[in-house]
Amino acid sequence: MIYDDYSIFTPGPVKMSDEILEIGAKQTPYFRNKKFSNVTYACEKGLLKMVNAPKGSKVVFLAASGTAGMESAVMNLLSKKDNALVVNGGGFGARFVDICATHEIPHTDFKVKNTNLEDIETLAPKETYTSLIVNAHETSVGHLYHLEAMGAYAKKHKLFFIVDAISMLVTDPVDMMAQNIDVLIASSQKGLALPPGLSMVILSPCALERVHDVKSLYFNFNDYLRNGERGQSPYTPAVTIMLQLEARLAQIEKRGGVEQSIKNAKAIAEYFRNNIKDLPLKEYTPFMPNAMTTLTPTDGKSAMDIVNDLENDYKVMVCPNGGAEKDLILRVSHMGDMTKAYTDVLINALYHYYKIDRK
Ligand SMILES: *Cc1c(COP(=O)(O)O)cnc(C)c1O
Repeated sequence: MIYDDYSIFTPGPVKMSDEILEIGAKQTPYFRNKKFSNVTYACEKGLLKMVNAPKGSKVVFLAASGTAGMESAVMNLLSKKDNALVVNGGGFGARFVDICATHEIPHTDFKVKNTNLEDIETLAPKETYTSLIVNAHETSVGHLYHLEAMGAYAKKHKLFFIVDAISMLVTDPVDMMAQNIDVLIASSQKGLALPPGLSMVILSPCALERVHDVKSLYFNFNDYLRNGERGQSPYTPAVTIMLQLEARLAQIEKRGGVEQSIKNAKAIAEYFRNNIKDLPLKEYTPFMPNAMTTLTPTDGKSAMDIVNDLENDYKVMVCPNGGAEKDLILRVSHMGDMTKAYTDVLINALYHYYKIDRK
């Protein structure tokens, strides 16, 4: 197995627990039956509870990566009559802009930097919009947006609010009801700490009313919703990942609920940030989520070189940023089955790498 004995701090796939890994080692069962329908129902119920979805919300389960959740949401819920304000603070925001362009949805590319949009009311362009789209945690730079403020803004201006919560679920708080979120997009391989290949689009009753027939066979939400009534999907689901999701949701409950998981992630993130203060690395943004720490070398070293050295010399996997900022940004994930002891592996590797004694 590649990377079998490596320590994993990449922002997706993330470190999975043994309980989840064991399910992945088992035979994939047949699924067109009541037993599997019950798994789907359990996943839907658990997810809706975890994000405090309004009563009557539904989940579309797609055997696809997270981008399919983003694209299918835009396709099924927005039309040429819309005008979307798309928050673009990095690679994933840019992807939503591309998706709107591809599907000819009128939109504004709302480029943002150095703000979590707590003051979106003053920063947003003064145009009339019908929808607001954001990646709650812009994973390319480790930037968390202010969902309360954005939700209040969406409510005030009657905007249909689409939130990609893929890389902050389970580590950072999200609440569909309190934050007026109409659509929430999730994916298996980030905060949920499962293997990649399953995406979920959570639709509030308001979003359900917006679903229209699209020119796509695989991404037709009406088809998924119809099949979902009996706990099934039109095409083969990501069966094993669904079984792992059911177990993961039960695990989160058993460990004290999602609030406790968020507290743990916060404690781990703070532990990491507090323990690397003697190293020539500085925090890239003041708006970091619990999910991830983004660092910039202060000694002129290339972030990409550090990533490669950690992998080759210490068997520790962290991530650079893609594209132009690959030498500037180093990304360390705290998502998944993290403990302080596990985080120490990375901290100790960094101290050894810089030849500095850890206090
Ligand atoms: C990882 C991620 C996605 C999905 O990417 P895929 O590679 O398609 O799974 C979408 N949005 C955000 C914010 C992400 O971090």
